[in-house]
Amino acid sequence: MKEFSLIERISRRAHARADVVCGIGDDAALLTVPAGQQLVVTMDTLVAGVHFPHETAPADIGWKALAVNLSDLAAMAATPAWCTLALTLPDSDSVWLEAFLDGFFALADQHRLVLVGGDTTRGPLSITVTAHGWVDAGEAIRRNGARPGDAIWVTGTLGDAAGGLAQWRAGGGHSAELRQRLDRPTPRIEAGLALRGLAHAMIDLSDGMLADLGHVLQASQPLSGPLSARLELARLPTSRALADAFAEPARWPLQMAGGDDYELCFTAAPEQTEAILAALSACAVPACQIGMLDTGASGVTVIDPAGQPWHARRHGFDHFREDTP
Ligand code: ADP
Ligand code: MG
Repeated sequence: MKEFSLIERISRRAHARADVVCGIGDDAALLTVPAGQQLVVTMDTLVAGVHFPHETAPADIGWKALAVNLSDLAAMAATPAWCTLALTLPDSDSVWLEAFLDGFFALADQHRLVLVGGDTTRGPLSITVTAHGWVDAGEAIRRNGARPGDAIWVTGTLGDAAGGLAQWRAGGGHSAELRQRLDRPTPRIEAGLALRGLAHAMIDLSDGMLADLGHVLQASQPLSGPLSARLELARLPTSRALADAFAEPARWPLQMAGGDDYELCFTAAPEQTEAILAALSACAVPACQIGMLDTGASGVTVIDPAGQPWHARRHGFDHFREDTP
């Protein structure tokens, strides 16, 4: 297959949308941003062997390449609209491509997200997606709004993807549920939208709770003054599958620093607890409070179920750390 027929295969599956004046096929896409909206743009790259095991099913790679971007839109409380796809493929394998597109469009179609362009090149397998969405001007939920006294919340459950990855690395028995959470994360778009006007700060959990909550503290200090967080391990939302596969304390590092959760972590005034539970249950997304913010610059303190401080060996995934596997 030539580059043109690859693009043709991709283009055939892209839908139309009224705000896409011109999608795939011209030199660039031409898009109409609705009046009164701000454009929200994000990009993430997945590299084979770094972000997913080489043997990952192509449909799962397609799903995940988009999911990690939609998770960023969710964390801004944005409504998804358009995306572009840069594909670097080792060869022009139409079976692989169609399976990849099955996963990609299964998720895109759920959110009425339309593919409007991209680039196709040859090389080691790597996928870059940009996702574009919008928010009412001024309504985005940023990382920098956390305040002392806020409750710290998280959606869904923590540590499942990291548990699935740990099982895959160990090569022994594995849980299909954990592997599914690694390969097919659910971007929390509806939850992000439901939290407008309720959450003070929000981030999606890609690198691990400790690292990502650290980003919120750091971003919020200029406005809030010194901020510290106290997290309680006894409150961590834990799936049945993770609890069955990993006992305490072995699962805590997976839940606090494993990464790839793609859940939302947000902070909000304690008075909003009922309103938040109602807003999230309306979109069927579970969420729970796992700690509190306070004044003081002591960073994140983690308390174990016996009330003692717990120290993580590492805080989260970092590509440029010396000891990153
Ligand atoms: P150019 O040389 O102008 O960059 P290309 O041949 O790269 O043009 O692309 C032609 C059209 O196909 C453009 O509209 C581009 O956005 C689209 N396109 C190329 N690769 C992809 C892809 N992987 N996914 C979606 N659209 C793509
Ligand atoms: Mg090009």
